[in-house]
Amino acid sequence: MAQVGFIGLGNMGGPMAANLIRAGHSVTVFDLSQAACQQLADAGAQVATSAGEAVVGAEYVISMLPAGKHVASVYLGDDGLLARLGPETTVLDCSTIDAATSREVGQAAAALGIGFMDAPVSGGVAAAAAGTLAFMCGGEAATFEKARVILSGMGKNIFHAGPAGAGQVAKGCNNMLLAIHMIGTCEALEMGVRNGLDPAVLSEIMLASSGRNWSLEVYNPYPGVMEKAPASNGYKPGFMVDLMAKDLGLAMDIASQSGVDNRMGQLARELYTRLQEAGMGQQDFSSVLTLLEQKN
Ligand code: NAD
Repeated sequence: MAQVGFIGLGNMGGPMAANLIRAGHSVTVFDLSQAACQQLADAGAQVATSAGEAVVGAEYVISMLPAGKHVASVYLGDDGLLARLGPETTVLDCSTIDAATSREVGQAAAALGIGFMDAPVSGGVAAAAAGTLAFMCGGEAATFEKARVILSGMGKNIFHAGPAGAGQVAKGCNNMLLAIHMIGTCEALEMGVRNGLDPAVLSEIMLASSGRNWSLEVYNPYPGVMEKAPASNGYKPGFMVDLMAKDLGLAMDIASQSGVDNRMGQLARELYTRLQEAGMGQQDFSSVLTLLEQKN
């Protein structure tokens, strides 16, 4: 079992670190929030007083931080973690951040002979707690193989997408598509309902037809169709509008840097930004249906 340093114990990082302890690893944690550290201490982690202290002797360093600026400040520069680590350590950044920062940290790690992967996740807080996350990894094949044993303590589907940054690109592609098919599903259901159809019956028809997709199958956005979906529980998340808007912003950067014409993605971003402006940032992302209901 491995010695792990874990930085960032928020909604996602907390349960992920707890699962590594359950899997038998020795985990030393650090977060700026003392309350978050205390929760992990109760779960059996050693708590460090700084990120630097958390990675002493670590075979694996894992981070789960809000954005690129946090990841850059934790790893880069004279005071950053990379300066303290050697080639015996493998670094896995599971945060969802811009691909450019992942590549920058990956290059800085490679120059020091340290294996680095960006390994953003799909699945949300429930999957983090259940240990069923999907990991999309960007890094060297050898680093990916080394990381498997650790990632399998936190997730079920582990993919090697390509070199450093490729995990972030895969996540951007997936979440842009998710936003688009969620909005499309809402439009189809709303159109059916306004023309007298029962949304449950229409959902059944589309599920057995070529409109079938994940939003319709496991996350129906129409209230009352699927008992456990956020739509039937006042759009309590789930996956928040704020997080979808963040991910769409990252996806737009990837698209513009690579010259892709992604007008559906841009429209999806506009709609999610509008939801945020309407004060619905903390609602589930399937609440985009309510925007369609407002137009007469
Ligand atoms: P969060 O805000 O709950 O947690 C982030 C944690 O990082 C906080 O506890 C904060 O104190 C800590 N932190 C910030 N800077 C730090 C530093 N310099 N040193 C140590 N700790 C520091 O966020 P979250 O929901 O856990 O999300 C983390 C990442 O996972 C984000 O990139 C997010 O986009 C991604 N993600 C979230 C979800 C989700 O459903 N919440 C799903 C998939 C991916």
